[in-house]
Amino acid sequence: MKEPRVYLVGAGPGHPGYITLRGLECLSRAEVVIYDRLVSPQILQQAPADAELICVRDLADLHVERSPHINRLLIEKAKEGKCVVRLKGGDPLVFGRGGEEAELLHEAGISFEIVPGVTAALGAAACAGIPLTHRAYASGVAIVTGHEDPKKQESAIDWTALAKFPGTIVIYMGFGRLETIVDALIEHGKAPQTLAAAIQWATRGDQRTVQAQLKHLPEQVRNAGLQAPATILIGPVVSLRDKLSWFEARPLFGRRVLVTRPRHQASDLIRRLEELGAVCWSLPVVEIREPLDWSPVDEALSQLQEFDWLVFTSRNGVEAFFSRLRKIGLDLRALASTRIAVIGPATAEAVRRFYLEPDLIPAEFRSENLSQELREQVAGKRVLLARADRGRPLLFDQLAEVASVTQIAVYAQVDDIDIHSEAYRLVCAGEMEFVFVTSSNIARGFFGALDEAGKQAVQTGRVKIVSISPVTSATVQELGFPVAAEAKEFTTEGMIAALLDLVNAK
Ligand code: SAH
Repeated sequence: MKEPRVYLVGAGPGHPGYITLRGLECLSRAEVVIYDRLVSPQILQQAPADAELICVRDLADLHVERSPHINRLLIEKAKEGKCVVRLKGGDPLVFGRGGEEAELLHEAGISFEIVPGVTAALGAAACAGIPLTHRAYASGVAIVTGHEDPKKQESAIDWTALAKFPGTIVIYMGFGRLETIVDALIEHGKAPQTLAAAIQWATRGDQRTVQAQLKHLPEQVRNAGLQAPATILIGPVVSLRDKLSWFEARPLFGRRVLVTRPRHQASDLIRRLEELGAVCWSLPVVEIREPLDWSPVDEALSQLQEFDWLVFTSRNGVEAFFSRLRKIGLDLRALASTRIAVIGPATAEAVRRFYLEPDLIPAEFRSENLSQELREQVAGKRVLLARADRGRPLLFDQLAEVASVTQIAVYAQVDDIDIHSEAYRLVCAGEMEFVFVTSSNIARGFFGALDEAGKQAVQTGRVKIVSISPVTSATVQELGFPVAAEAKEFTTEGMIAALLDLVNAK
C-alpha cells in the first residue's frame, strides 16, 4: 500500500484560471477530492473522471467550529492509501481551517503537502482594481475575520489597534455583520469618510463591487442587494479603483451569454467571450456522432484518386473525414492528386491542422458563395462532398448541375439538449441575455426544445439571439423568433463583433 498522503490545495477565489500549476498537478492525480462549496466546477473538472468527488458544505460564513466529519473523512481516505486532495477556496491557510486539518494529519502520522492559493483578498484586489499596498497610500495590509461579533466582551480582535492600523484593512466573512463592524471601526477612531469597497464573488464573471465612504458602505451594500461571499477592503487605496478597474470595464462584463455549439467546439468561443468579461453558459443542442453506416464513406475513401475535388463544409466534417481515413489504414498520400475546397476560415484551419492547404476558400462564407466559386472550377470534374447527415441540399444541387458529385455523410447530428440544466432554466426564466446560434440545425433544435416561457422570453426580446449568418437568421425568423444581431463575417469572431456592436449601441 502507498504511503498515506494528503494534499491541501488552494483553489483560488473563484476564477478557474487562478489555481496554481502545482495545485492542478495534484488535482490531476487525485483519487479522492474533498472540496469546499466555493470551489469552481471548472476546476473540479480537472480531476480524473473516476476520482471520487466529495463536497463538504463547510461554507465558513455559516459556522466556524471545527468539522470533525471532514477530518475523519480525510484521515480515513488517506489511510486507505488513496491520493487525497483537500481542495479549499482561496488559500488553505487563510481562514480555511487548513492549519487545523494539517495539525490533525500530523497527529495521525499522515504526510501532507500544502499548496498555496490566491486568497480572496488578492483576487478581490486585482479584479476590483484596488492595490492592497501603494507607496502613496498604504504600506501594510491587515487581514481580519469579520465573523467575530465586535460587541462581544472578549473579542479576539483589538478594534482600537485595528482602527489605528496605518494601512489597508481586509475583512473576510464580515458580510453578515457589516453594520456592526463599520460602527466598531468608526467608534474606535477610524475616519468615517475613509474609502471602502465590498466585492462579491471576486474574480468571477458575476463579480459585483460597491464602493463608498466607510460610514455609507452598509447602506449602499444593502441598496445594491449584494450578498455573501464578499470581501471588504478599507483604506485610501480604494480611490485608485477609478483608474484601475480593468475587470469590470471589459466590454461584456457580467453579460450572460449562452453558447449552443457542441461542447468540444465551444471552448475557444467561451474563452474569447470570458476574456471580454461575459458570464458564459454552455448548452449543446446538437451532438456529433458517428454516422450509422460507414460503408459509403469507406468506399469513397478507398478510391480518392477518382475525385478531382474534395469539399468540406464544417470543421466536424474535416475531423471525421481524416479520422476515418486513418482508421481504414490510409493516410494523406491518398489525397495527393485531389484539390480541396472549404466553406470558410474555421474549416480551412481544421484542414491545415492535417498539414494540408485548401485550394479554395471563398471570399464570403456560406454555401451560396462556395458553390458559385466552386462551380466555375469543377465544371466537368468529379467532386466528393464530405458533410453531415443533415443540412441544406443547396451545395449538392448546385454542384451536381455542372459536375459529377458524390456526397458522403462523415458524421451524424443528433438533437440532444439538457432541459434539466441550469443554462436551460436561465433561458426559460428570461435570465439569459444572449444566445449564440451558430447554424440552422442548432436553431431548430434549440427553439424546438424551449418551453412556452422560454419562447416568450425570446419573442419579447428579454433573451436576444445572435446569429452567425443570414441563412441562420432566416431559419430563426421562419421559426417565429427575432434576431437581435447578425455576424457580418460568418464566423464566431464575427458573432462576437456583432454582439459588441449591439451592446455598445445601447
Ligand atoms: N480560504 C479562503 C477564505 C475562506 S473564508 C481564502 O483564502 O480566500 C470565506 C470568506 O472568504 C468569505 O466569507 C469571503 O469573505 C471570502 N471570499 C472567498 N471567496 C470570495 C470571493 N470569490 N469573493 C469575495 N470574497 C470571497
